[in-house]
Amino acid sequence: MPIRRVQEAPAPLGIRHGDIVKVMSGRSKGKTGKVLTVDPAKRRVTVEHANIIKKHTRANPSKNVRGGILEKEGPIHVSNVMLLCPGCGKHTRAGHTTLPDGTKTRVCRRCNTTFEH
Ligand SMILES: [Zn+2]
Repeated sequence: MPIRRVQEAPAPLGIRHGDIVKVMSGRSKGKTGKVLTVDPAKRRVTVEHANIIKKHTRANPSKNVRGGILEKEGPIHVSNVMLLCPGCGKHTRAGHTTLPDGTKTRVCRRCNTTFEH
């Protein structure tokens, strides 16, 4: 992938690597999985087992890559996924709060469970 220079820091997505999310629309609608990668610049994420795409690869022995069709997770726009709350089990938006000790954290807007990372 080409390296792209980002001029301004992109707005945070509210979804982070390792979060459990639910796919709300698109081909993998209804699936839940762990966020594997986050691309704030493109506002896209990849979710475990969701939006599987077939990637055709050419064999490259020097990189130990076998040719053929590889199945992997494709990127999904963040607007099509929502966080799943570990506390109430529902899809939610993350709110932000500051704990008494001063650390900032994300909380479930439904049940106020904190998402700790
Ligand atoms: Zn909750």
